[in-house]
Amino acid sequence: MSNSVIYWFRQDLRLEDNPALLHAAQSGKSVIPIFIFDPDDRPIGMAASWWREQSLTKLGQALKKIGATLNFYEGRPLEILQKLTGFYGADEIVWNRQYDGYSVARDKEIKQTLSDKGIQCSSFNASLLFEPWLIKNKSGSHFKVFSPFWRQCMAENAPESPFPRPTKLRGHSDTDPLQISLPTAPLSDDADLITEEWTPGETGANRQLEKFIEEGLAIYAEFRDFPDRPATSRLSPYLRWGEISPRQIWSKIQFVKSHESFSEKTITKFLAEIGWREFSYHLIFHVPEMATQNLQSSFNDFPWERNEEARQQWKEGKTGYPLVDAGMRELRRTGYMHNRVRMITASFLIKHLMIDWRAGEKYFWDRLLDACPANNIAGWQWVAGSGADAAPFFRIFNPIIQGEKFDPQGAYTKRFIPELAHVEQKHLFSPWKAKSDTVGVDFQEGGYPDPIVEHEYARNRALDAFQQIRR
Ligand SMILES: Cc1cc2nc3c(=O)[nH]c(=O)nc-3n(C[C@H](O)[C@H](O)[C@H](O)COP(=O)(O)OP(=O)(O)OC[C@H]3O[C@@H](n4cnc5c(N)ncnc54)[C@H](O)[C@@H]3O)c2cc1C
Repeated sequence: MSNSVIYWFRQDLRLEDNPALLHAAQSGKSVIPIFIFDPDDRPIGMAASWWREQSLTKLGQALKKIGATLNFYEGRPLEILQKLTGFYGADEIVWNRQYDGYSVARDKEIKQTLSDKGIQCSSFNASLLFEPWLIKNKSGSHFKVFSPFWRQCMAENAPESPFPRPTKLRGHSDTDPLQISLPTAPLSDDADLITEEWTPGETGANRQLEKFIEEGLAIYAEFRDFPDRPATSRLSPYLRWGEISPRQIWSKIQFVKSHESFSEKTITKFLAEIGWREFSYHLIFHVPEMATQNLQSSFNDFPWERNEEARQQWKEGKTGYPLVDAGMRELRRTGYMHNRVRMITASFLIKHLMIDWRAGEKYFWDRLLDACPANNIAGWQWVAGSGADAAPFFRIFNPIIQGEKFDPQGAYTKRFIPELAHVEQKHLFSPWKAKSDTVGVDFQEGGYPDPIVEHEYARNRALDAFQQIRR
């Protein structure tokens, strides 16, 4: 009888609330924890690669403390797993599930092929509150609108409690010839604030949750749309890489709800955002094609423009609209962008510049630490109006008004656009109007650009284009 089990880490880079790892630990067999760099999966971007490398390093250290060594491999997972089961004589492989189209198909093939060879493959849920196939509408299909989806989730039994972390693993003393060392993933020079602002890994995730409960949760409902306020959790990269699970967050929030005096409104709002994450994951599971195609096929005829110059100006934060540019520079420098500003920058690319949402999704994918196969696609399609329960296309953000409303002191915008540091608040979001005033001198010297497109013109052009696909 075999006495080893392979544990395959993927997007669950933690020890706590890790049902597959706990299963392996409790099997009594020696555990071989592995991570595979899969060349057939969508290559992750620069920022996320850095995060993953850091997180895997910390995971390796944590595993060592409880008795096992994390091994790295590169290649097609089925082939690697076949070779490893042979080498270690393992009769079982365990992993936590992923829900995007590529991963589902890959895992299915692996399960089928290896089960036929007598190797048991067991998978678990470690990244969702509710499995996608359990939440159905009255006609037995998946939900396309968020509110009834979340109501249905809330009507289900409460999510399971988090699983305890294994305290000891029986490691394996052999090493195999396929192993590689963990590849380094350097950051580009312009991502200069990432290491200062972020601490990847399970410990960092738990600290971030504690910090949010202390500083952000009480003001979440009121200030979550204001990018200069520390009101949101910044848990997204940790959730993306599974350094913390939604079950852990859920359970911690239920605990503080019953022990501390947070308003029902703020708790409900925060949990609903975790709900939006669930909604995106369920959607991508049920409609995997949405990763590359419009969910609403009427958008297939949208007359997108190919404007390389404007796309580059958008990426560099040089559109001449300060809130848009602050967001794009925040993304570049920190690997993160506040949700309200993600909506505004995405809307600007799609509606003001009429550039296909897929181009924006690709750039976010490269630059976001939390770039996620479900949330990024769903976010972009939501803004475009082509997605599920999406913002209607005709609702076009005015980047000037959005700035005045959501960055009322200008602190966020000025942090990322130092050229505008001395521009008066009344001109901050339309600085071209300050040109004739003396207050405009600083910004002119700093070289901040004029708007690359005029707002009213862009708005009307986008609405005309939208009319074409509605006919
Ligand atoms: C164009 C666009 C692209 C996006 N790309 C991503 C992405 O690649 N990865 C990603 O995790 N989120 C993405 N989002 C959703 C959202 O902007 C981020 O999850 C959020 O800003 C992360 O900050 P936070 O952790 O402080 O969020 P909080 O407000 O503290 O929310 C807590 C958690 O809930 C989830 N969440 C919050 N808002 C949303 C939302 N609108 N949709 C889905 N889940 C949500 C996230 O997991 C988040 O960490 C995108 C949104 C847009 C408009």
